[in-house]
Amino acid sequence: MSNIRERAESETKGHSIMNTHGERAAWFLGGAGVCPPVAAPAGKIYRLLLLGPPGSGKGTQAEHLKEALNACHLSMGDIFRAAQELDEEDRTPAMREALSAMSEGRLVADATVIALLRERVRCVACPGGFLLDGFPRTLAQAHALEGILREQRLDLTAVLYYDAPHEDIVRRISGRLTCRQCKSVYHLEHNPPPSPGKCGVCGGELYRRPDDQPEAVWVRLRAYERSTAPLVAYYEERGLLRTIPAVGKPGEVFERTRKCLGL
Ligand SMILES: [Zn+2]
Repeated sequence: MSNIRERAESETKGHSIMNTHGERAAWFLGGAGVCPPVAAPAGKIYRLLLLGPPGSGKGTQAEHLKEALNACHLSMGDIFRAAQELDEEDRTPAMREALSAMSEGRLVADATVIALLRERVRCVACPGGFLLDGFPRTLAQAHALEGILREQRLDLTAVLYYDAPHEDIVRRISGRLTCRQCKSVYHLEHNPPPSPGKCGVCGGELYRRPDDQPEAVWVRLRAYERSTAPLVAYYEERGLLRTIPAVGKPGEVFERTRKCLGL
C-alpha cells in the first residue's frame, strides 16, 4: 500500500493535503481510490463545469460552491499534483504519461487527460454531483466528456464561465508581491505589506515573481482565450453557458453565482 493511501486513511480531520486525498480518494487515486459513501442531496443535484482564466478567482468560487452544494470539487490540476506524490507503482499508465509529458515540457495529450477522467468515472457519477474544474480544455475533451455523461445517463446542469476584463486580471495578478524568504504573499491594493517592500512576517525582501509580471500575465490570458473560445461557443450552442462577471469582491461574485443557479 502506498504512503499516500495509508496517510489518507489514517487522517480524518485537519488541513493537510493528505486529508484532501482521504476525502476524495477516487479523484486522487483513480480506479484504486474509494471515497466514503456519499448521500444524494435532498434538493437538486448540480453537475457543473467551471471555466475562467487564471486570476479570475474561479478557485475561490469553487470553494464557496463546494460548501453550498456539498458537491466534490474535481480539479484536474489536483490530479497532476497528487500523481507526483504517489509512489511510482501506484501511478496508472495515464498518470505516468501525464507526468512525463509535464517533466519534458510537452502539452499533456487529449487522450491522456481523457484517460485520467475515465479512470475517475465514479466521480462523474457521484450521487452528490460535481464541480469539474480544469477539464475540458479542448473540444476533443468536451466531446469525450459528453460521451462519458451519456454513458452514465447524466446531464450537465450548467457551465459557469467566470469572465473579467483582462486589464483587471493583469492588475490583480501583477499587484502580488512575494517574500523571498518565507514566501508570504501580499497585494499592493488588497493586502499591502506593513512597510513598503518588506515582509511583515519575517522582514524579508518582497519581489514580483516572473509569472506575475504584467507581460507574462497578458501572454497567459491570450493563450487561455485562444484555447477557451471554442469551448465557450460549444457550450453556448448547447444552452449550458452561464457567463458570470468576475469583478468585485469574491462575495459579490458568489452572490451572482447563487442567483445564476437559483440557489
Ligand atoms: Zn517573509
